[in-house]
Amino acid sequence: MSVIKVMSENLANKIAAGEVVERCASVVKELVENAIDAKAENIKVNLVKGGLEEISVIDDGVGMDSDDALLAFQRHATSKIYKDDDLFFIGTLGFRGEALPSIASVSEVTLETCKKDIGTFIHIKGGNLLEQKPASSRIGTKITITNLFYNTPARLKFLKSENTELANTTNFLEKIALAHPEISFSLTNDNNNIFKTSGSNNLLKCIHEIYGLSISSKMLPINKLNDDFALSGYISKPEILKSNRNHLITFINGRVVRNNDINKAINDAYYTYKPDGKYPVVVINIDTDPTLVDVNIHPTKQDVKISKINDLYNLIYETIKDALYNSLLIPDMSKVSEEDKNTNPSFTPIKDYVDNFKDLQGKQTTFDFGNEQKPVVNEEFKSLVLHPVGLCLGTYIVCDNEDGIYLLDQHAAQERVNYENYLANLKKDKINIIDLLIPISIELSQSEFIKFELYHDVFDKMGFVWEVFGINTILVKSHPTWLKTGYEEESIRKIIDLIINLEGNFDPIKFRENVAITLACKMAIKANEHISMLEIEGLLNNLVKCDNPYNCPHGRPTIIKFSIYELEKMFKRAMD
Ligand code: ZN
Ligand code: ZN
Repeated sequence: MSVIKVMSENLANKIAAGEVVERCASVVKELVENAIDAKAENIKVNLVKGGLEEISVIDDGVGMDSDDALLAFQRHATSKIYKDDDLFFIGTLGFRGEALPSIASVSEVTLETCKKDIGTFIHIKGGNLLEQKPASSRIGTKITITNLFYNTPARLKFLKSENTELANTTNFLEKIALAHPEISFSLTNDNNNIFKTSGSNNLLKCIHEIYGLSISSKMLPINKLNDDFALSGYISKPEILKSNRNHLITFINGRVVRNNDINKAINDAYYTYKPDGKYPVVVINIDTDPTLVDVNIHPTKQDVKISKINDLYNLIYETIKDALYNSLLIPDMSKVSEEDKNTNPSFTPIKDYVDNFKDLQGKQTTFDFGNEQKPVVNEEFKSLVLHPVGLCLGTYIVCDNEDGIYLLDQHAAQERVNYENYLANLKKDKINIIDLLIPISIELSQSEFIKFELYHDVFDKMGFVWEVFGINTILVKSHPTWLKTGYEEESIRKIIDLIINLEGNFDPIKFRENVAITLACKMAIKANEHISMLEIEGLLNNLVKCDNPYNCPHGRPTIIKFSIYELEKMFKRAMD
């Protein structure tokens, strides 16, 4: 084996290292992917000081003989011609490509591996082979990286604090563990356990091992395919809210990928089930023909481009929407307070991980994975019999049934009813209109008037009949019947406000949404309005008919529940 060749390539490797290796997490990624390709069943990642001092990856996969081991540190190792696309076709065994030579060129590496009872030990520093000798036999491969970027000070400066490096590595490893529930992963830092998965090949159990019971007990299974894509995985109920997209986890053929269209499909499917800017936890694997996926966008190969992305978008969007529609989504409050330490929406990503660690280390939970949650058909909400008890604080409707006590936010609930009603009317092609005996005059400023004239088509198409009346004033003579009686002028004024705020290309769907949400809020009962029992019953009857009775159009909950069991526990009527 030509050691000289390895050395002469050193410069190229150092340059390549800049593309492939950015931080500790990218080193871990390369080493772990190698271990997966080596068919490991157990992969241990041990860090010292978040990886800044030491990264070691130990696997029980297929090891290497001494020739292969050395070859692994050469660029474009000739035994396997490597293309980016290979990633999506076959898992090549053992080390591949330029990642390992690149890592070795900017750090100190020791490798212990074994094939057919013959062990090999290799020690390389800055790309130079310091030692190669036989070693005792072992199962699999252990590779240890120290002094990362010691000979590239500019790169070294890019490494962040121990906490940040640890958070990045944890984030990556959690994702890859979810992509491979059949492999047991463990991560330690300074000998402290960060997380461990059991390799049970049960995705829900793997979600539980990583996120804890508070999340895993609120996941809904999804499973759907079309001609080109097969989706499977879990999505969280809307009550789980994260403040970033970090937990929208997608795999294509088992590889962790990032794609904005996929994230958009997920986010759009949760529209009005959650507030904007908050995100669910989603773990989806997409199986597809590898030729539909282009991985050559970014050297770290997480960003991908997908052919037939519109079909995939629709499949993801429809599947998630159906899953939400067919599930009972009333948050059970008594459980939230106990367990949901890591769903506090205001945490930073780092704190998120830290909380997760604490959660996983401190808690022994039993969770029956034998009978996975059976989806509840939305009919069950519709047949949910809620007996209204009364109104509290002029704001919250109290109901009960044999399962517990329910609180509804009267404003949020009516907002939802109004929203679905307005939206249905705005979508209708045939518009019923009312001619006014006394026209409504709306006074505008000069600039508002100019803007209104520019977009007046929008107003006309909604069914309004109007004429200019004096300076900057319009006279509305007819309006669609769905405007709330007694609030016609206020509603028209709101709609005109939305029209004069239009900019650029007119998006009819977005405009409809805006009108429906704005009017829904304006026309809903406010807090501190004491409504009668009859009005409460009317509101409940209407809410039950909604497509999504659980959230107002801003994504806030309309209804929460205190289960009878939890209440009995609180009052010590039931001992557990
Ligand atoms: Zn509102
Ligand atoms: Zn709202």
